[in-house]
Amino acid sequence: MTIPDLSDTQLRDALACAHIPSLMVSLVHLTGDLALIRGDIRPQHGFMLGPDCGISEAHQQHIRDLAFDTIRAFQSRHGQLADLGEDAIVEMCEFIIAAPLEGPYGELLQRELVIGGTETFAHDSFAGIPHEARASFRVLVVGAGMSGLLAAKRLKDEGIDFVVIDKNAGVGGTWLENTYPGCRVDSANHMYSYSFEPYDWPQHFSDNHVLLAYFERFADKYGLREHLVLDTEVSSAAFDEGTGTWRLETENFRGEAVKFEGNAVIMATGQLNRPRLPDISGRDSFSGIAFHSARWAHAQDLTGRRIGVIGTGASAFQFVPEISKVAGDVTVFQRTPPWILPTPEYHDSIPEGKHWLLNHLPFYGKWYRFWVFHSAGEGLLDSVRRDPDWHNARSISAKNEEVTQILEAFVREQLAGRPDLINACIPAYPLGAKRGLRDNGAWLQSLCRDNVQLVTSKIEAIHERGVRTRNGQNFEFDVLIYGTGFKASDFFFPMQVYGRGGKTLEAHWQGDPRAYLGIAIPDFPNLFVLYGPNTNIVINASITFFSECEVRYVMGCIRLLLAEGRSVMDCKKDVHDAYNEWIDRGNEQMAWGTPGVSTWYKNAAGRVTQNWPYSMLEFWQQTKSPNAADYQLS
Ligand code: NAP
Repeated sequence: MTIPDLSDTQLRDALACAHIPSLMVSLVHLTGDLALIRGDIRPQHGFMLGPDCGISEAHQQHIRDLAFDTIRAFQSRHGQLADLGEDAIVEMCEFIIAAPLEGPYGELLQRELVIGGTETFAHDSFAGIPHEARASFRVLVVGAGMSGLLAAKRLKDEGIDFVVIDKNAGVGGTWLENTYPGCRVDSANHMYSYSFEPYDWPQHFSDNHVLLAYFERFADKYGLREHLVLDTEVSSAAFDEGTGTWRLETENFRGEAVKFEGNAVIMATGQLNRPRLPDISGRDSFSGIAFHSARWAHAQDLTGRRIGVIGTGASAFQFVPEISKVAGDVTVFQRTPPWILPTPEYHDSIPEGKHWLLNHLPFYGKWYRFWVFHSAGEGLLDSVRRDPDWHNARSISAKNEEVTQILEAFVREQLAGRPDLINACIPAYPLGAKRGLRDNGAWLQSLCRDNVQLVTSKIEAIHERGVRTRNGQNFEFDVLIYGTGFKASDFFFPMQVYGRGGKTLEAHWQGDPRAYLGIAIPDFPNLFVLYGPNTNIVINASITFFSECEVRYVMGCIRLLLAEGRSVMDCKKDVHDAYNEWIDRGNEQMAWGTPGVSTWYKNAAGRVTQNWPYSMLEFWQQTKSPNAADYQLS
């Protein structure tokens, strides 16, 4: 085993960037000596501790010096990595998370670590199912974003026949469509990536170009392009009870109608796909340039322009700091302020030394991801769960209040020079009721610029030249940008989906989307949804983790059909209904169930249709493999 050489200075610089607990366990791989992680220098448990995990600076330096000597010794003796048994790996896991690795959570974490090279989410083996049977089962995947590509890879691995249809000209979904200035992922990249597909991320939270490149590379690497049908929009999907198959009607970019037929459909269209323009009177009368954040008009030069921005959600949070650098002036219309999650490294590049550690120090990258995964794993979940005995208008438990105070202090500190903005920027609703937004200070700094003003009076109307607010103020703009989000609970919009008896999903749901595990819908057999109803997570885990769970489950469903020699599986209504009651009970306990706070987590009737209310462990366990008894098989 060779560790590439660096000069002493370069190696010390690299070690200066190290996450110390990950470095310590990586050293065990070099020496085989567990004594290092049995001593007094150890991480402490606690989400709010940050990357140094409570290890003092003196102890960190001691570990860096030790690492320097250990790596040099390993290099000079051309060492071999220690052959560590399972007990040692468990001990190393427990060291990193500073807690016992117990029960099923231990299994999840160990599998997530992928130390032995086995893919965490590789589904149950298709061994024993003849290749002809697999190749004659055709799956129609709708959507070539993060979830659709993952499904494609798994289908390809197992020799299932499939096609992936996407309305866009390329893969990448949200990362292809969202190109606004400042667009970047706001989940840590080492976790917002497939568990089995590491990448040399340039930043902790990389921008849209990098994310798009990751998914394009994924499609190339796994030979998925030959299965893609791009520039083709699905207008309807219909289940044929006679043949037990699905038919998709599509229209391609040449305006040609193309039909597809398959045994199953995987809907991977995402929740945040179709822009939502606000229902504000006079919206169409604006005579200037107007566009939505997900349809950025790059041809328009914003330099020196008077710009109005409606919305202060995740998208506006990222583009306002950027456009305000070039605009003449920017007026931001805020209806509700978001809670800000301070993230100092949000815009930082990963330093050269850290790249070296991640790419060249054996196992460091895996342990680092493991730590990121664990620390964000259940994250702030406990802090957004309601305590029925806690009575306070803006918080829902003592923990919720504790975190709230930390976040409030961040806003006050950032706005010390602009006390006039403080009240407008501190939310009055509980943390977690709406999506908290990461920031390193860029948002509040942009609001403090001379050319930016924050308007909190409600918008009464949009008119030919701009916006009028309820307090009678008139604003004139050259450009109006809608950062007003997406039609989240209109799953599959504007596609029409027909199930048994020709019933439409629209009529079935009536604005209240529900599915079993977010994946299966009674009377819509062999239709599998990825990132479906109640699978959005906002405070714990990552959406890629959930997709991996869902795809593993769907592959299990296909395997079940093939193994049983059946062609159709339909989720039982009682199973589906009981599950959804359980989901609703869970969501009522969570901050996002708070009545009176409007978010894209809820449908028009106020039911939480988007979010998953339990732990990631719960979802991982529930989606491990399908229970045949939950379905009618025919
Ligand atoms: P959003 O979070 O739904 O925010 C929409 C904003 O528009 C809110 O501030 C909302 O105010 C405001 N709004 C809507 N209708 C309005 C009206 N009639 N008058 C005034 N204001 C109005 O949308 P988004 O910012 O596009 O983000 C959507 C989701 O996409 C995020 O939550 C996140 O999950 C995802 N996203 C992720 C990233 C990332 O990973 N980096 C980046 C962007 C988006 P109210 O709050 O009062 O409703």
